[in-house]
Amino acid sequence: MRLKDKVALVTGGARGIGREIALCFARQGSNIVIWDVNPQAAAEAQKEIEGLGVQAMSAQVDVTNSKQVDESVNKILDKFQKLDILVNNAGITKDNLMLRMAESDWDLVIAVNLKGTFNCTKAVSRLMLKAKSGKIVNIASIIGIIGNFGQANYAASKAGIIALTKTTAKELASRGICVNAVAPGFIQTEMTAKLPAEIQEKMRSAIPLGRFGKPQDVAELCLFLASNESDYITGQTIIIDGGMVMA
Ligand code: NDP
Repeated sequence: MRLKDKVALVTGGARGIGREIALCFARQGSNIVIWDVNPQAAAEAQKEIEGLGVQAMSAQVDVTNSKQVDESVNKILDKFQKLDILVNNAGITKDNLMLRMAESDWDLVIAVNLKGTFNCTKAVSRLMLKAKSGKIVNIASIIGIIGNFGQANYAASKAGIIALTKTTAKELASRGICVNAVAPGFIQTEMTAKLPAEIQEKMRSAIPLGRFGKPQDVAELCLFLASNESDYITGQTIIIDGGMVMA
């Protein structure tokens, strides 16, 4: 029970990697809060988590909306009186080559991925500062490190998350709060399932470990970064990609 009696908030936790992180934390004894734009899927995830014997709550929260984020943090406090862990996982893609990319698609991806991470971190860090402890895990991407065709908005948002992670880690370290980022490679979720088969095959052949990642792979790394086992690690971006990118 590596997270016994902790309270963890996972944004975009209704499905994909976020749902797996929430389940993984719950199996380690953490109570869970799921925020997502899809309330039905969030409620289903909540039920599954409660079945593991911990408390859970879910809410329809759009991370781009700072007012909604602030109000929803207060609701967490009403139920749990504290928040120990934040995983900024909510993220979207709107791919197109830069010259064809609509301004609205640039704005939306930056708003959800980068501003959403800022909004949630700002709202939650007030509580963590008072508690003089906390763990924040930001889900970045290797695309934020190496760039990618057709993903100018996504790459910029994820690079921004890496820089935000370092800055937040510096600002919060003196109060015992650790902030780290995880940079997954190709993980099998609905987000990547929409890529054409030939692109998926090309990517698989570039992975030294010879397989795509699973949401559980990312969840286990987040668990480490959310637990006391990583108390001396902050401001880092840890790549989890089967060896695709080696610095
Ligand atoms: P999914 O699309 O499967 O899940 C993302 C979740 O976030 C969905 O439940 C989605 O809801 C929710 N969401 C979207 N917009 C918002 C918002 N504004 N506010 C709150 N919740 C929102 O994605 P993945 O699980 O694949 O990705 C999770 C994270 O991991 C993302 O940050 C992604 O960039 C990152 N990542 C993923 C990789 C991969 O290969 N899959 C690789 C590297 C990084 P809904 O579906 O209803 O819109």
